[in-house]
Amino acid sequence: MPIIDAHVHLYPPEVNRDPAAWAAAHGEPHWANLCTRQRKGGQPVQGFPSVEQLLRDMDAADVSRAVLLGWYWERHEDCVLQNRFYADCVRAHPDRLSAFATVNPPAGLVAVDEACRAVADGLTGFGELSPHSQHFPLNDPVWRRILTLAAEWRVPVNLHVTDPASRPYLGRVETPLPGFIQLAREFPATTFVLAHWGGSLAWSREAVALPNVWFDTAASSLLYDTAVWDKALTDRVLFGSDYPLILYPEKETAPGFAGLAAEARGAGASAALLHDNAVKLFGWW
Ligand SMILES: [Zn+2]
Repeated sequence: MPIIDAHVHLYPPEVNRDPAAWAAAHGEPHWANLCTRQRKGGQPVQGFPSVEQLLRDMDAADVSRAVLLGWYWERHEDCVLQNRFYADCVRAHPDRLSAFATVNPPAGLVAVDEACRAVADGLTGFGELSPHSQHFPLNDPVWRRILTLAAEWRVPVNLHVTDPASRPYLGRVETPLPGFIQLAREFPATTFVLAHWGGSLAWSREAVALPNVWFDTAASSLLYDTAVWDKALTDRVLFGSDYPLILYPEKETAPGFAGLAAEARGAGASAALLHDNAVKLFGWW
């Protein structure tokens, strides 16, 4: 059974050429902290692969489809750049790639226009977004308009969630967990995918009781030990890697899917988690 990876990031060639310089020129310091830094040993935290390299890495680990997630950019024009790039990726490889749109609600109504345009252009969800990193409150009216549209269009919204108990790292942003439960209650027709096991919400009875809340496993190996694969109190979990993050920095020097896929399979992850849930949630066949 091939895998569907519901949490992959990819960047346009102009970002990949010199990510740190691009971030400095475009006012994206938070992304630069998280994605362009090096670990203590000097190795990079992630790679910046091309779409062709992504497809080769998917083939190497029997990943049949990847959902490309946008980044929670701090500037509207960077959301537009990412969305245009992803629409091109999906047009070029519709059998292998899907993509979600990114938006920056503080930009105002242009963010709603961009949401409409991106979905008309073939993107099939929103995310990965992070109100706390993008500096807007959960009651921001533009944000709430986009959550309402996501429900009308029946497309999911992927949100970054930080486990409050996780270790400190550069660029870590606190994302208080009750806010996600409140959002899911206020927007019952909107489907939320809470990234990184929902930052521990996947084992919260209160969170899993909400039928419109799903979880992904992005960056699991960097955050939790293998016992986590048995820990979720719900079946609404999607395999996600956070590629091109280097997920096993002690033994890997380049991004790839095989390590986390092997960890999941070794821990007894179900076919639903690895593949079928994504088909069900995203409406593929
Ligand atoms: Zn994340």
